[in-house]
Amino acid sequence: MVMDQKVGEKYLWNAVRRYDPSAAPMVANEGKGAWFTDTDGNSYLDGVSGLWCLNVGHGQEEIVEAAAEQMRTLAYFPLTNSHKPAVNLSQKIDELLGTDETYRTFFANSGSEANETAFKIARQYHVQTGNPGKYKFISRYRAYHGSTLGALSATAQANRRFKYDPGAVGFLHVHPPYSYRSIFDMHDKEAADLKAADLLEEMINWEGEESVAAFIMEPVISGGGVIIPSFKYMQRVQEICKKYNVLLIADEVVSGFGRTGKMFGFQHSEGVVPDMVTMAKGITSGYLPLGATAVRSEIADVFREPGEDNHFRHVSTFGGHPAACAVALKNLEIIERDQLVDRVEHLGNKILDDLKKCESHPNVGEVRRIGFLAGFEMVKDKETKEPLSGEEIGKVMGYCKDQGLIIGKNGDTVPGQNNVLIVAPPFITSEEDLHFIVKTITDAMNQL
Ligand code: PLP
Repeated sequence: MVMDQKVGEKYLWNAVRRYDPSAAPMVANEGKGAWFTDTDGNSYLDGVSGLWCLNVGHGQEEIVEAAAEQMRTLAYFPLTNSHKPAVNLSQKIDELLGTDETYRTFFANSGSEANETAFKIARQYHVQTGNPGKYKFISRYRAYHGSTLGALSATAQANRRFKYDPGAVGFLHVHPPYSYRSIFDMHDKEAADLKAADLLEEMINWEGEESVAAFIMEPVISGGGVIIPSFKYMQRVQEICKKYNVLLIADEVVSGFGRTGKMFGFQHSEGVVPDMVTMAKGITSGYLPLGATAVRSEIADVFREPGEDNHFRHVSTFGGHPAACAVALKNLEIIERDQLVDRVEHLGNKILDDLKKCESHPNVGEVRRIGFLAGFEMVKDKETKEPLSGEEIGKVMGYCKDQGLIIGKNGDTVPGQNNVLIVAPPFITSEEDLHFIVKTITDAMNQL
């Protein structure tokens, strides 16, 4: 073990990592584009963009400059008043959301916080519009909405919550549109997905519409195993939410800013206009921490009504930090200037679509892909769909790593067992490197 690893082992507490004295975490040293090098001198293509956030890749000097320039100009200022980068970024977010509505944005530091903000806005909105009993939130099984206790309560993956429950009061979960393991005996994916949407209506009715504040969903379930619904699913969800005065929160923490081949995931579903859109990760491509909750003005305006307590009494010291907002603006400028969203759509279809061929392997139950986001549902047996063991899945990941490719895994088919392998490379990954990803994963499957 090299020196940095030894020191890290003693003092640094790693995230979601089982302690294994024989496999110390690697220590990253530098990054270039889609690649990084560790302190042992090994180079890897980062096939999961860090934690699905390093969308424009390492080494974007313009972003570095934007942060430094902002820190020189105004190092810090709280958003109890305003600063220029936050004003400009909030306007940019409204433009990119691309609806006929106007959105007002509250800034935070992370995706978890952006979702917590949305929950508080939803509850206060209902209290101030004559529905004080509307306090419950509905999300889907397999969803991940964050690590803080409210966001974790909306998260419905048993292995994330195990030993941390009980969570917050008023969080309910409904079945997701998961056609591969559908609870409905239907061959038509779209019909099965729409039936899953109907379960939301059923739950609202059973719970009592007067008690339900909001429904939160990712347009594409990412960390829960890359579950891509029929685009009509979100349209149906919107209809249901409108019918019962339940706010629709789109969690775009992963889907937002191009990952699925559109600027936002909800934009795949024509006519969908979420009440709130939460963002983080790709908003800065990971260069600095930032979260954001964009709120339709009709809802946000309720917080401007006269009265002692009608304003939003929520604050985050670092939320919307000037440097983070300046970084986000530059990041979004690069994404638009270099047409990276079109690139993701185009090269996803042209190159990453070949990953689908892995489905001919006996241990690959389904390959699901949209843009630069792909999931491989690994099974022991295609008939029974029993998840492949962690050990076998580890072999695929280990093979890829030996070849210089980092891929991820997630999903929660059986508590504690993650059987979906995940690929989500940076948007700037070269065509050659995209082919390398396809070849390496295909070879890795064939080693099984
Ligand atoms: N929402 C989704 C869909 C996520 O994938 C994540 C993180 O992975 C979060 C929220 C939480 O974001 P953060 O880790 O920045 O708190």
